[in-house]
Amino acid sequence: MLCEINEYAGSLLGTWAYMSLLETIFLFTMSTPVFYYYYARSNVTYEKWIYKSNPKFPSPEKVRDEIVQMMKGMFCATICPALSLHLASNGYGYAFCGWGDRSLAYHVGTMLFTWMVADFFEFSYHRLGHIDLKWWRHHKHHHVFHNPSPFSVIADEPVDQFFRSSPLLVLPLLFPINMDLLFIQFGLLFYCYGVYLHCGYEHSFISPHNGVINTSFQHYAHHARSSMNTPYHCGFFFKIWDQLFGTMYPEAKGCFCAECARKNGERSLEEFKKITVPDYTILLKPSFWMTLDTFKIVAKE
Ligand SMILES: [Zn+2]
Ligand SMILES: [Zn+2]
Ligand SMILES: [Zn+2]
Repeated sequence: MLCEINEYAGSLLGTWAYMSLLETIFLFTMSTPVFYYYYARSNVTYEKWIYKSNPKFPSPEKVRDEIVQMMKGMFCATICPALSLHLASNGYGYAFCGWGDRSLAYHVGTMLFTWMVADFFEFSYHRLGHIDLKWWRHHKHHHVFHNPSPFSVIADEPVDQFFRSSPLLVLPLLFPINMDLLFIQFGLLFYCYGVYLHCGYEHSFISPHNGVINTSFQHYAHHARSSMNTPYHCGFFFKIWDQLFGTMYPEAKGCFCAECARKNGERSLEEFKKITVPDYTILLKPSFWMTLDTFKIVAKE
């Protein structure tokens, strides 16, 4: 499936351009419906709001910044995958397309293995962005979004997105791997989970206090409380890395998830009535975008 993209595009630059176009369509297709469901004024209800980690809503200007930053990140996130397909089609590395002559167990095994390796890599790279000033200078741009929306999944600086997508380039150079599965795993699974992590809402079917999986609250807490030298909840799927490296948000500081807020009686109908939901339809107006502010996203040191 994906190997044909490179053949069709004909060159590395063509593959990158083609993948960037597909990725842009994909990002908006995945993030927009979730944003519409949770943030459009007509869709915000009390029943949904009691699960919102941050009781307040971001301004349309912040969401615009997320979209601009997402597009910046996207153009770099497609470099490694394009390079990977290009190398594969020229016979470098062990990438193959389709099922090849491998067993089902091999495909499932490599998928599970790359999942764990990629999750640890994402955690380590992310943590580095919080403990080393050089890397924080790139990563801090993801942290201007203290109250993120589903558009902020890859709202990163180019350097960050290049490294975050680098397993797509490195893994097929190390061992035989089904490129279709690898791309589905990174593109579909990781991005969809990223949308959940950034959606701003918790869910009744999984408690933020579970001991295994990072929920949307952990990532909201990361955006709201993490900065340089305070790497709380840097993990993506699994909590184990934060547990091992001691980067869980300290319990002594008190939990601020929606589940605890509900238990503490902070999510009453009266409180909900005090909340203002901005009119995000302004994001559909070209005049809202045709301003210099669109390109001025300022991140503090
Ligand atoms: Zn971070
Ligand atoms: Zn984030
Ligand atoms: Zn809690």
